[in-house]
Amino acid sequence: MVNVTVCVRFRPLNLSEKRLHGDSICIQALNTQSFTFKDEKEEDITFCFDRVFYQDSEQVEVYDFLAMPIIEGAVNAINGTIIAYGQTGAGKTYSMEGLGVLDGDRKKKGLLPRVVDGIFEFLQSLVEMTKWTVKLSMVEIYMDKIRDLFDLSKDNIQIKENKCQGIFLLGATEIPITNSTEALRCLCHGIANRAVGETQMNLASSRSHCVYIFSVQQESRTDGRSKTGKIVLVDLAGSEKADRTGAGGIVLEEAKSINKSLSALGNVINALTAGKLNHIPYRDSKLTRILQDALGGNSRTALLCCCSPSPSNVSESLSTLRAKLLKS
Ligand code: ADP
Ligand code: MG
Repeated sequence: MVNVTVCVRFRPLNLSEKRLHGDSICIQALNTQSFTFKDEKEEDITFCFDRVFYQDSEQVEVYDFLAMPIIEGAVNAINGTIIAYGQTGAGKTYSMEGLGVLDGDRKKKGLLPRVVDGIFEFLQSLVEMTKWTVKLSMVEIYMDKIRDLFDLSKDNIQIKENKCQGIFLLGATEIPITNSTEALRCLCHGIANRAVGETQMNLASSRSHCVYIFSVQQESRTDGRSKTGKIVLVDLAGSEKADRTGAGGIVLEEAKSINKSLSALGNVINALTAGKLNHIPYRDSKLTRILQDALGGNSRTALLCCCSPSPSNVSESLSTLRAKLLKS
């Protein structure tokens, strides 16, 4: 069964947007699932999603709606994926990591630290029944090459598949974690290693996809049977068109590579949701290949489309809302 939830999140206006357009925004909320969007011609378009998080939404709401079912699934050996999509500066990393992964304001913590806490809370409640092991890997996909964020010397990791492990990253560091604090330290270490590019839109904009993989293995204390569920979180590279970043040369090559992998992801999700299960084009990019057994088969997928509500970003927001990724 293919289970895809598609949500949108609008971040609050930023200072430069306020300077340009004051408090005006291009969306009007209808309810928690739909809104109207004023396009360049001032025409209203109505969009519907499984859930809309408006500018004042809290991190915990996003976690409760998107991540809780996925953690519950993983503990029951159902793989799950959460993907953040959208233009640079739209709030992907804020939603995934939030501010202060290790410490700081609890309210501002994103999905990752909450997922870590959630996994251990779930497992703790099962401790009488199962022995468990949680492992974390973190990789970055840049120009279709996979780099280990826990060991930067491993910069061309290959994807393999076998009966026992399913899809796996050959030789990638997998750190066993036994509690939240340990997991958060590892996350911070990986995040610090993450390569960032620079574009006109956002000085620290990321031009790579960042993939966090939690593997939750359990062994029953009664019959010794084991089961594994994976939770994969993906902070995608910015989806903006290359021309708006005003760059050429290497940055243009980066943009082409990003577009190629994002459209491969869109094609896979479309094929899955359209029920064309006999040929899903996972092999078209490293991104889709890594996600293969967390997207297809018996799994849960949540997409978070991140947008600015400002009239300054109408065309990029529209393309995010209309992305192929969303057609279902
Ligand atoms: P992206 O990862 O999509 O490029 P970021 O997550 O880095 O974008 O967000 C850009 C800026 O907007 C950051 O300074 C971030 O802290 C802020 N931001 C994004 N979403 C929110 C939000 N929901 N609430 C408050 N600030 C946000
Ligand atoms: Mg980011």
